Amino acid sequence: SDGQLSTLQEFIPMNELTLGAMIGEGEFGSVLRATYTPHDQPPQTVAVKTLHVQHTDTNKKEFLSEAKVMMSLRHHCIVNLIGVSLGPPLAMVQELVPLGSLLEYLLRHPESISPGYELRLWACQVAAGMRYLEKRRFVHRDLAARNILLANRHQAKISDFGLSRALSTDSSYYRASRGGKWPIKWYAPESYNYGTFSHASDVWSYGVTLWEMFSFGQQPYGDMRGIDAIQLVESGKRLERPEDCPDEIYQVMLDCWTYSPEHRPTFSHLVDVFSQHPDYVNIS
Ligand code: ADP
Repeated sequence: SDGQLSTLQEFIPMNELTLGAMIGEGEFGSVLRATYTPHDQPPQTVAVKTLHVQHTDTNKKEFLSEAKVMMSLRHHCIVNLIGVSLGPPLAMVQELVPLGSLLEYLLRHPESISPGYELRLWACQVAAGMRYLEKRRFVHRDLAARNILLANRHQAKISDFGLSRALSTDSSYYRASRGGKWPIKWYAPESYNYGTFSHASDVWSYGVTLWEMFSFGQQPYGDMRGIDAIQLVESGKRLERPEDCPDEIYQVMLDCWTYSPEHRPTFSHLVDVFSQHPDYVNIS
């Protein structure tokens, strides 16, 4: 009866999941650690993102469309969706990304993170994941440090596809139709002005994400209101160079924040920029 559901391949019966401790709080539900014991296969530890019962009616469609998006993507720099459980509660069974959100990691362990190694490596991996999304014609629309998860110190993964959209074949941008909470400080000018989203607007958000990384989790534009941040950008100003940020990396951020979308770097170029490093492996 549900069109959204019939296109999903994997349904995980509730009895194959043993729910454990809560590891995160999402907008519409909790994220729990769990053990998934598939029929005839060894158990594996997973993350289960649930949709609270009180949100089920209004957000089921969005939840399932996020699941559908994630199900079609497979890349080591993107959080893997293992399947969906119809519950109740309705839940996404995802690969467990043990170190949690990059934003929290930056705030908690600044002393153990080297701008010349870890930050460059994560920047490269996020660009590689985004290059893959671009190849699959997906626009993420919510790229930010809070939506990058760390599997370990050497592997960052893009998550949270709640706002992402597939572009239709005849268009290079997506026009947002509905309201809701918008992460304005990560938005490109064409997004806050006209509601258009493209790979180039994801590149702008990538620049803001880089800024968060090199400032070790600072809030972009401090506690400035969204509208004032927009004013600042429209007047030609940009976020300032974080203290520990090398000039060449700040220049990459400024390139990502080029006003006109067609003059911004591509994710392919950004992967190249950040793979100029002897220790890089495994980013394709
Ligand atoms: P929402 O999109 O509603 O904000 P998130 O997907 O961002 O919810 O999840 C909230 C938090 O749960 C994240 O910040 C992270 O700490 C944790 N989390 C989410 N997915 C995973 C995962 N696959 N593995 C480990 N932790 C996760």
